[in-house]
Amino acid sequence: MRRFPTLPRLAAAPPRAVEEAIRVGGLAGAKAKAILSALGRLNEERGGYTLDFLADMPLAEARAHLTSFPGVGVKTANVVLLFSFRREAFPVDTHVLRVAKRLGLVPQNATLARAALLVEPHVPAGEHAPLHLNMIRLGREICRPRNPRHDECPLLPVCPEGKRSVKPPMSMDGQVPRRGQDGRVPRRSGRPGAAKPGRRERPPGTPRP
Ligand code: SF4
Repeated sequence: MRRFPTLPRLAAAPPRAVEEAIRVGGLAGAKAKAILSALGRLNEERGGYTLDFLADMPLAEARAHLTSFPGVGVKTANVVLLFSFRREAFPVDTHVLRVAKRLGLVPQNATLARAALLVEPHVPAGEHAPLHLNMIRLGREICRPRNPRHDECPLLPVCPEGKRSVKPPMSMDGQVPRRGQDGRVPRRSGRPGAAKPGRRERPPGTPRP
């Protein structure tokens, strides 16, 4: 923003200068080219550097318009529509995709774009941003790619993958304990052979009554 304080200044900048300014984010060459090409097209087609016209377009049309720019996929388009235009678009990144697959919300072979379009219509109005942000957080902190923390997960009761993965410990008599309604295996109380509640233990050496 310091180097290119306005969009016309950015649009007129040499590609090398744009590339240099965004180098820290990686793939700077391709991104600089995509940014300058998008600005050039916007100016040519709309006579300015604004996307405000997207606000009044049907959602699918607005998304199709954005993804027609080189380098813009469904995830990026949905981020713009959700956070800049408050539209009911649902961005799916790798964390959201992993959580959605494990929860059985989308098929195992779903791509980011397919998963976004499958989940989006089922999200209640006004919940797209909170759901997106919470699924990212869950994916980073609990439903991690490796060693997911199923036992600490609030979604375990409704998660097929979590229930499959949490192996119930074998009891002393070789029985597999039943899961509770929350999908968790109840903790065993007391040590093996402990007296049942309500029954008094007889001190060692004392005769039976
Ligand atoms: S129960 Fe496990 S697999 Fe399911 S969402 Fe939670 S951490 Fe992920």
